[in-house]
Amino acid sequence: AKDLGRNTFQFYSSEMNMATLERLMMESNLRHALTASEFELHYQPLVSLANGEIVGVEALIRWRHPDLGVIMPDRFISVAEDTGMINPIGDWVLFEACRQAQAWIDEGLALQTMAVNVAPVQFRQAGFVEMVAGALGTTGLAAERLELELTERTVMHDAEFTLGTLSALNRMGVSLSLDDFGTGYSSLAYLKRFPVGKLKIDRSFIMDLERDADDRAIASTIVSMGRNLRLTVLAEGVETAEQLTLLRSMGCGMVQGYYFSRPVDALRMTELLRSQPFL
Ligand code: C2E
Ligand code: CA
Ligand code: CA
Ligand code: CA
Repeated sequence: AKDLGRNTFQFYSSEMNMATLERLMMESNLRHALTASEFELHYQPLVSLANGEIVGVEALIRWRHPDLGVIMPDRFISVAEDTGMINPIGDWVLFEACRQAQAWIDEGLALQTMAVNVAPVQFRQAGFVEMVAGALGTTGLAAERLELELTERTVMHDAEFTLGTLSALNRMGVSLSLDDFGTGYSSLAYLKRFPVGKLKIDRSFIMDLERDADDRAIASTIVSMGRNLRLTVLAEGVETAEQLTLLRSMGCGMVQGYYFSRPVDALRMTELLRSQPFL
């Protein structure tokens, strides 16, 4: 039994070394990807149901690996968070998104909002607010055009710190949006506490909207709550005309999803912005 114990220990310890090694390799791969400019941003339209226009876009990162092709964020964002590489990557995303937004505005295209996802670690890094101010200052983008998308995972710890940071961003003119809304466990308390302007109903509630009466009840409850709180409500992951009709009848203000467009590269997004109105 003693021997077995020792073998088990050795087994675990080599497993752990393997995990550490993989982590180190992944970290250096991500670092290399950043310096070799292998990351790019794609953009997905945020469509207003009031006028059918693209009023904003969400920036979504992709990793164009020379050998592996395009790697989606679900495959590397959590590793980037674990290794701390999310901070330099997130900084790059913010600068690039602001730069592109201002380039579109300089071209005369009507873009009200550039939405950028912020990871929990990134939100909590020292000097985050200053970094956002720096991205706006360097690119010339007006703070009012920038919207940061935060999840409950980002705002749920340390309410005092969160409130301080969100208030500072809000005072600068930056808008805040609660992403994946409805999937956390105490969403409502945050709405009261934090200066959030938009709710994004998570795709999981929209997916089966035509078939699931509970999902319809949840979606329409979020929409009317948003209206009462004077928040913009956006439905994520709209894929069908039926979903769109239902959301319209609920009074949902904005939509995003494959029904309108998948995330596309900057060139294709430029064409979409030129072809307004969209619906
Ligand atoms: P998210 O913020 O919830 O972004 C929406 C995701 O849903 C995107 O996946 C988008 O392509 C996908 N989507 C949009 N409409 C539809 C639809 O109609 N049907 C379906 N099936 N999917 C739809 P993507 O681009 O793979 O991003 C996945 C997640 O990775 C994002 O979820 C976000 O959490 C994270 N992410 C992406 N870019 C960044 C980034 O720059 N920084 C950080 N921190 N996270 C990012
Ligand atoms: Ca998002
Ligand atoms: Ca989302
Ligand atoms: Ca989501």
